[in-house]
Amino acid sequence: MEDASCLSEATKLAMRLAPAIDDVRVLAAIASIPRERFVEPSLRDRAYANVALPIACEQTISQPLVVARMLELLELAPTDRVLDVGTGSGYHAALLALLGGEVYTIERHRELARVAERTITELGIDNVHFAIGDGWQGLPESAPFQAINVAAATGPAPPPPLVAQLASGARLVAPVGRASQYLTLIRRTDGGLTQATLEGVRFVPLIRDDDDAG
Ligand code: SAH
Repeated sequence: MEDASCLSEATKLAMRLAPAIDDVRVLAAIASIPRERFVEPSLRDRAYANVALPIACEQTISQPLVVARMLELLELAPTDRVLDVGTGSGYHAALLALLGGEVYTIERHRELARVAERTITELGIDNVHFAIGDGWQGLPESAPFQAINVAAATGPAPPPPLVAQLASGARLVAPVGRASQYLTLIRRTDGGLTQATLEGVRFVPLIRDDDDAG
């Protein structure tokens, strides 16, 4: 038995998530990213609790268990081109970058994107590309993607532009709904699209450009 006092906080978090997460690559990624770097110093003592925490611009860093579930649903390969909608703190993007190939992350709040880029660069992760704008539209100039991760609640259906940017065989995971939200997995196959509705979750809303920017 390993002496738990020698393990990093991130490793202990991964061990706590292990009963609910089958993909060991996802657990290894969680164990190697220091989540405390993605929250404000005053919240660092809660950085490894399995809870969402507030970040700037009235947004949240998602709950680790939900992040891990979304990562395992995406079944990433090291060569995958990945789109991440809603950079926020950059924590989810950093994990995608360990599991996929090139990650394109888009955020509508410039300040969040700036801080996330700094944190990810400081961690020595160099395969994340940052964009500012309306992620509802996806990133057509970098499409198609083998995987799309949406970290904000889409409303009644995943945005059609995102579904259109899925390569053949690609997966999209998103919290679909508003008042009640469910993780939804879409897969593009040669025969068309398949969609599975999974567990209930709670995310901040995906804001459309024509909504109030807040
Ligand atoms: N993935 C983040 C958590 C994101 S919270 C993390 O790991 O910390 C959801 C994020 O989506 C917020 O930062 C919010 O500003 C952003 N967002 C909401 N609507 C958006 C849109 N239309 N385009 C891009 N980003 C959006």
